[in-house]
Amino acid sequence: MPTDHSYPPLPEPLVVGVYDNHTHLDPPPSTGSGNEEGEGPEREVLDYLEQLDRASSVGVRGVVQVGGDVESSIWAAEQAAREPRMLAAVAIHPNEAPRYDEAGRLDEALAVIAELATRPRVRAIGETGLDFFRTPEEGRAAQFRSFEAHIEIAKTNGLALQIHDRDAHDDVIETLLRVGAPERTVFHCYSGDGAMARICADNGWYMSFAGTVTFKNAENLRDALEIAPRQLLLVETDAPFLTPTPLRGRPNAPYLLPHTLRFMASHLGTDVSMLAAQITSNTELVYGTWDSEPVTAE
Ligand SMILES: [Zn+2]
Repeated sequence: MPTDHSYPPLPEPLVVGVYDNHTHLDPPPSTGSGNEEGEGPEREVLDYLEQLDRASSVGVRGVVQVGGDVESSIWAAEQAAREPRMLAAVAIHPNEAPRYDEAGRLDEALAVIAELATRPRVRAIGETGLDFFRTPEEGRAAQFRSFEAHIEIAKTNGLALQIHDRDAHDDVIETLLRVGAPERTVFHCYSGDGAMARICADNGWYMSFAGTVTFKNAENLRDALEIAPRQLLLVETDAPFLTPTPLRGRPNAPYLLPHTLRFMASHLGTDVSMLAAQITSNTELVYGTWDSEPVTAE
């Protein structure tokens, strides 16, 4: 049976709105040329404004658009400056840091991130952190250096930190405790277990749950969800990745966030609107409000 690569239908709208605190709506770099004879099925790519319109129509009030290299961070900062439904997070992704370092351009890239961090609608530094799954041993020194530099930029500018942690829980926690975590620290796409959720809770670190919490084999995430204090919960899509069950294999998008939120509420045995209200309040504490800065025509 061929996989369905089309966007799933709109879910039933939420009564109380939420924000998607981690998504990637920038156009893929391959757009524009040489794509005619690409391998595999053509994936439909929606324009970010269409994405935001669909999101609004189901109660997803806004997004944090997350950069992972110089170009996507600039894109995030520039769109957020003129789009009221978007705030930006900027960073060099932990898997990109070794590449910049090899090219002798990591310091230059970090300087761009430090400049973007001063803009009013850039509200987080991320995604940064450690990824021992994709980056081999020899890239890790650059990854640590980049992570620590990002923590410093977040603290200097009073911004939230969005952490990407893949197979690196102990080292991420050790680094945060050693250099001092920013006041608002978020584990994006939380991937730890219940024991780690206790460590996060003790330190006041936020846990942002993605579609992975709905996956059949993700018992560890559901344990963590039960342990995480409600005032430290956030929700995200990490679109276009990690589409929630039962839509796996199809592209993810912020308008699909209600599936994950409803799953979380049902697992916790709580009312969807109560959970949405709590998460929205948490989200605004971490990033500020979406409409608190005038939107400028840059
Ligand atoms: Zn991401």
